[in-house]
Amino acid sequence: KLSQGRTSFRFYDDEINKRYRRRIRLEAELHRAVERNELVLCYQPKIDLKKGKIIGMEALIRWQHPQLGMIPPDDFIPLAEQTGFIEEISRWVVYTACQQISYWQSAGYGTLNVAVNLSPIEFQNPLLGSKIIEMVQDAGIARCALEFEITETAVVKSIDSATVILHQLSEAGFGLSVDDFGTGYSSLSYLKGFPLSKVKIDRSFITGFVESSSDAAIVSAIIAMSHSLGLKVVAEGVETLEQLRFLQDLQCDEMQGYLISKPVSAGEVTALLSRETDI
Ligand code: C2E
Ligand code: CA
Ligand code: CA
Ligand code: CA
Repeated sequence: KLSQGRTSFRFYDDEINKRYRRRIRLEAELHRAVERNELVLCYQPKIDLKKGKIIGMEALIRWQHPQLGMIPPDDFIPLAEQTGFIEEISRWVVYTACQQISYWQSAGYGTLNVAVNLSPIEFQNPLLGSKIIEMVQDAGIARCALEFEITETAVVKSIDSATVILHQLSEAGFGLSVDDFGTGYSSLSYLKGFPLSKVKIDRSFITGFVESSSDAAIVSAIIAMSHSLGLKVVAEGVETLEQLRFLQDLQCDEMQGYLISKPVSAGEVTALLSRETDI
């Protein structure tokens, strides 16, 4: 019995060790990822539930590591946040998204809206707003083509600089969404003082809301409250047709999820746009 305990302890120890070494390695190599062109921006289509058409996408980053393969953002974004490298990554994301928007525009797909995720850490830098405005100006795209997704945490943790940045971005014409809505501690009434345009209902409420009456009540309340505050609502993580119909009944405005598409490469999303059929 004792030896068994020891074995499982050693296994646990090895596991932690392995994870720790991977972490150290990723942290050390992250700096070169941008220079080596190893970062990849994927796009997940967003559907307008009334028109039944793709109206834009969310840009989601991945790291194509030469030895370790495709690394998901949850494995390296926290590292980038701790080391301050997140600002450089974000610059790359905004730049790449602008180039892509500009390509779609010139290829005749019209002005597609691309949403970019901003990390709460970045809101500590009061210059974030002017930096973004300058980058988009250089790219020469319409500002309404770019949208930023922020979490409640970002606003709550750096309330002073976040207030300045959000007003600056909104006045410049960018859309602003609250990401993962419902998982934080703040409320819509708290957020009403900010110039927001959209609320994204967190996937955790969508997953079971066809079966769970409490999740359904929460989703329905978020939609009704957001609409009465003049905000649009996006549902994330929609995986079934049942969920989609239910969201349509509740007058939800937009949705994204595996039902329509996983996040895919720019090329694949362009192919989706070309052979788009109505839902
Ligand atoms: P998020 O912003 O909440 O993004 C949604 C996540 O849910 C994405 O995971 C997406 O692939 C996944 N997802 C979308 N539809 C479905 C679905 O129907 N079912 C399920 N099970 N999952 C779905 P991903 O791409 O791994 O990104 C994870 C998180 O990493 C994001 O959460 C975001 O917080 C962060 N992230 C991604 N890209 C960036 C970036 O460029 N900058 C920053 N700062 N953070 C990023
Ligand atoms: Ca997001
Ligand atoms: Ca989200
Ligand atoms: Ca999330």
